[in-house]
Amino acid sequence: MSELNLFLFGPPGAGKGTQAARLREDFDLPYIATGDMLREHRANETELGTQAAEYMSNGDLVPDELVIEMIMEEIETKGDDGFLLDGFPRSVGQAEALSDEIERRGRRLTAALLISADDDTVLTRITGRRGCSNGHVYHVEFDPPKHEGVCDQCGKPLTQRDDDQAEVVSKRLKTYHQQTEPLIDYYEERGLLRRFDGTRSPTEVHDHIRATLATLRLEERL
Ligand SMILES: [Zn+2]
Repeated sequence: MSELNLFLFGPPGAGKGTQAARLREDFDLPYIATGDMLREHRANETELGTQAAEYMSNGDLVPDELVIEMIMEEIETKGDDGFLLDGFPRSVGQAEALSDEIERRGRRLTAALLISADDDTVLTRITGRRGCSNGHVYHVEFDPPKHEGVCDQCGKPLTQRDDDQAEVVSKRLKTYHQQTEPLIDYYEERGLLRRFDGTRSPTEVHDHIRATLATLRLEERL
């Protein structure tokens, strides 16, 4: 048995999205991003999607059990050799519920990959982002355009997304610290935590993750 059952997490702005995209290229593992998964279910009007839509139209959160059912369906149809889960669990309660379901099927998580970064780094990264309406992205400090506020590539004005404003980012960070950060201890106690320094360059983080996954794969074969 050499399946790699992975969960990827970290604060906003630590580079999780970039690493997920690279890991999807490297490893032939189904990528289960819960946000996309929910959208697909709703768009295809599946039974679970219709149930989820009802909660959402009432302004309620989609219950954990429903999300877990969707995840397990993905794992069972595509994840024989493993999976890369992103976006869930976001709390210890959710992690416990999910691991119960995974274990009920005689499987277990191989590792929880944490891409960490301190609040200052994250705030600087996110609040400095500017983009044009064609999707070209800059950073006021790390990758500034030649002329302030104007896209080098298409000449359109550069603006900041509402989601990238300091207040919004601080709020997301607060939620992360309160709800999701306890997962670090949770997975560490279970010997599953693998930590990556998200303040390093994307290529360095990627190399480190690849080396770690290669080792995990070897260990799983033993
Ligand atoms: Zn542009």
